Amino acid sequence: MEEFILGGLSVAPGTIAKGTLGNVRLAAGTKVGSPVVVAHGTEPGPVLLATGAVHGNEVVGTAALLATLKHIDVTRLRGTLIAITVANPLAFENATYASPYDQLHMAMPLLWPSMPDGMITQRLAASHKVAFDQATHYLDLHGNADPSFPIVMLYPDQAADDTIRAEQRRMADATGLTQVIMREPPDSSGSLVGSIAGQPAATASAHNVAGLMLELVSRQSTSAAELGRVAVMNVMRVLGMLDTEAEAQPTPKLDGEFEYRGGVVNNNAGLFWPKHSPGTLVEAGTVIGEITDVWGERVEQVTIPATGFVWGYLGTLYGDVTMALPEGSLIGFSAAAM
Ligand SMILES: [Zn+2]
Repeated sequence: MEEFILGGLSVAPGTIAKGTLGNVRLAAGTKVGSPVVVAHGTEPGPVLLATGAVHGNEVVGTAALLATLKHIDVTRLRGTLIAITVANPLAFENATYASPYDQLHMAMPLLWPSMPDGMITQRLAASHKVAFDQATHYLDLHGNADPSFPIVMLYPDQAADDTIRAEQRRMADATGLTQVIMREPPDSSGSLVGSIAGQPAATASAHNVAGLMLELVSRQSTSAAELGRVAVMNVMRVLGMLDTEAEAQPTPKLDGEFEYRGGVVNNNAGLFWPKHSPGTLVEAGTVIGEITDVWGERVEQVTIPATGFVWGYLGTLYGDVTMALPEGSLIGFSAAAM
């Protein structure tokens, strides 16, 4: 086994190295990079890249990666784990989804091609390219605000070929989470968070790095770190990187095939009262919640467009999440049974 080289890091077999990728400079001279931890095993194997806090306020992904690293015995690891624990430190520091300086978020297509001389977020993203160039597999760890239900997102339409498609499925099965195939929904609501084909796990898959996005819960805290850790380690097990036993997820899973169906939007302003928890399988047209105005009158019954489930009640996506909603709010994302 040879040393693993990543940017300025050189990692001996059976060791863990810590450093940063990227070096952008803020107005006051502060240098900012993305923290990275490389666990390099003692035998050859896959190179799994995992990213946390691609969206800066989804710190649960960072927590899950730190928990994973704590559990790994690197002297028994096959292959290499590259954990970019805070992909977007600019947004992470600001507790925002996107970077405060250019309003770009890192689940946009910033890597193929990468732009080291672009906007500040593009420059940071470009510094991650060395990791993607060496990766064989990729997990992008995100999280929704509560209340929400954890899922794993697959991108079969973007996969470079059947091998990558099969790898996505094998990894998704290992996570133990409910699977949602990501396709552009019939309306334009998919574009609210950027094109699906442009999401990092999709673009990686198009470039022969089998990728998935994990959409965890409790995005703002460390409380759901264990969900993510179990998913990441189970993927490492199925890839042959770890020889420990697969672990059961501490969360229920909906069996069957689901497809992204888009956002659920309200027509009337007021307070949203969910009737079904996220992750409850319901028939098309079921009332998933009600809106009352602030004088106490029920003004709307919100229904699910297709048989399936809603994986999170989002409130206001970019601000502080509350269930006090103006009309035309993105109440939740829905998945339809296939
Ligand atoms: Zn996210």
